[in-house]
Amino acid sequence: MASTPAPLGPAEIVVDLDAIRANARLLRATAGVPLIAVVKSDGYGHGMVECAHAAREGGAEWLATATIEEALALRGAGVDGPLLCWITAPGADYAAAAALDIDVSAYSVDELDAIATALAERSEPARIQLKVDTGLSRGGAPRTAWAEVFARARAGEEAGLWQVTGVWSHLACADQPDHPSNDRQEAAFREAVALAEEHGLRPELRHLANSAATILRPSARFDAVRCGIALYGLDPAPGQATDIGLVPAMTMRAPLVMVKELAVGDAVSYGHHWTAEHPTTVGLVPVGYADGIPRNATRPGSPDAAAQVGIDGKRRPIRGTVCMDQVVVDLGGDRPDVGSEVVVFGPPSAGGPTAQDWAEACGTINYEIVTRIGGRMTRRFVGQS
Ligand SMILES: *Cc1c(COP(=O)(O)O)cnc(C)c1O
Repeated sequence: MASTPAPLGPAEIVVDLDAIRANARLLRATAGVPLIAVVKSDGYGHGMVECAHAAREGGAEWLATATIEEALALRGAGVDGPLLCWITAPGADYAAAAALDIDVSAYSVDELDAIATALAERSEPARIQLKVDTGLSRGGAPRTAWAEVFARARAGEEAGLWQVTGVWSHLACADQPDHPSNDRQEAAFREAVALAEEHGLRPELRHLANSAATILRPSARFDAVRCGIALYGLDPAPGQATDIGLVPAMTMRAPLVMVKELAVGDAVSYGHHWTAEHPTTVGLVPVGYADGIPRNATRPGSPDAAAQVGIDGKRRPIRGTVCMDQVVVDLGGDRPDVGSEVVVFGPPSAGGPTAQDWAEACGTINYEIVTRIGGRMTRRFVGQS
């Protein structure tokens, strides 16, 4: 079969920063309020610093990370402007965060006390956002503690330690817009904000929505929205009405390194879990579970459910067990040139499956597919400004 040999080195991830910029623009326009671009976990595997710049260029007023260390790393890489983080552990460097104008989230009176101690040497007030738990039962102050947290936070403001810049929470079921917990959490959030105001707090930013709620739940947009997965162009709520024109930013590609023929009865890869029932050809692709390819991309006895790759615009299913460094794909008798481009996943325009297709084949969510990619794989950016 004819094919243009692609100029391929080893397997690589290509990240399209124009897509990130365009997605940020779309989300900002959809929300109608400031966009907090979430670049935690190395920008969902896309590259934290590059994605932070691209998100800003696309109109994101704010950036957010999970950990305080990620936020400090962004500042260290020269990323300035409004920046929020929400995970701290005992001993966190609150003073460094304050010195670099990072908004740190606090969940408890104990944490506010620790922050107060860390800020004792500082003359300028730090920036603190208060996270309330409205029903996710993960981070954030539980409802029973709201009043004491708000009171301690207000006392800290009066002492000149900090300014409470935000009150926020996180939804459990935003990808299921009809789930009753969405209404309950939003109502609880409104109560928390009212209680904060009763305690004399005047947060400039009240925020609740993640990507799914930004698109599907206008009432949850408040003063800002926190978008992660949608910034990278992946669907935050597959099957729901989320199509606003987002474009997946990550492509994973690799060269086809070998093509061989199999006879009836030849079995493939560790454990011999797949056996050729017809004569066929197979190809070797140098990506494996060490690179983040889920090992359950194939499962014994379910060959029709196998994840696929794209070669010359055709879908090719993986056969047999995913190895650490490579997979075998069924070429169905075709013989593409060695060196042909294999699109493991990417935007639909790349001619292969999407991260969402992989998520469905592997029984997970698109978030996990992109964030787990890594290991020895190189990352190349296109659309750099
Ligand atoms: C990761 C995260 C987000 C972003 O969620 P997406 O579904 O990727 O948009 C928002 N808020 C918090 C607290 C998060 O942990």
